[in-house]
Amino acid sequence: MNRILQIAVRVMSFGVGADGSRVAHLERDIQNAFANVPYPGDSSLFPHQCGECDRLRQVYTGSHWSDPKIERLGADVGPRELMGDDGWRYYFPALLLFLLRHPARVRELGLKADDFDPCLFTTAQLRAIRDTLEYVGERSDA
Ligand SMILES: [Zn+2]
Repeated sequence: MNRILQIAVRVMSFGVGADGSRVAHLERDIQNAFANVPYPGDSSLFPHQCGECDRLRQVYTGSHWSDPKIERLGADVGPRELMGDDGWRYYFPALLLFLLRHPARVRELGLKADDFDPCLFTTAQLRAIRDTLEYVGERSDA
């Protein structure tokens, strides 16, 4: 298990009261931390060439990570094995926002610790990720 998830799991054991202001605070942290991540460019989103990647390219190309269309993809936000690193980093906040709003659906994502490379993210982004995973971990049994 990687460092960030270990930290999240450790902090999860402390129950923190849920309320709307905590979600709003976490959303703001995510938005601020990822505000300056540049759009990776169409060709690096899904570098692999196949029908599934063509379909995903059509969905994602030109879409900002905060586009409600992207968040509505929900579990589909995390096709890590198909996405290039730049695309994964760029759309990761959409995944976090989805988890914040639907913590019980974390299992659908099939997210694996190996999918998560801390080196792709800044310190502020890692903090937002950790805090979000703590929140989600308190509300799911994943
Ligand atoms: Zn493909």
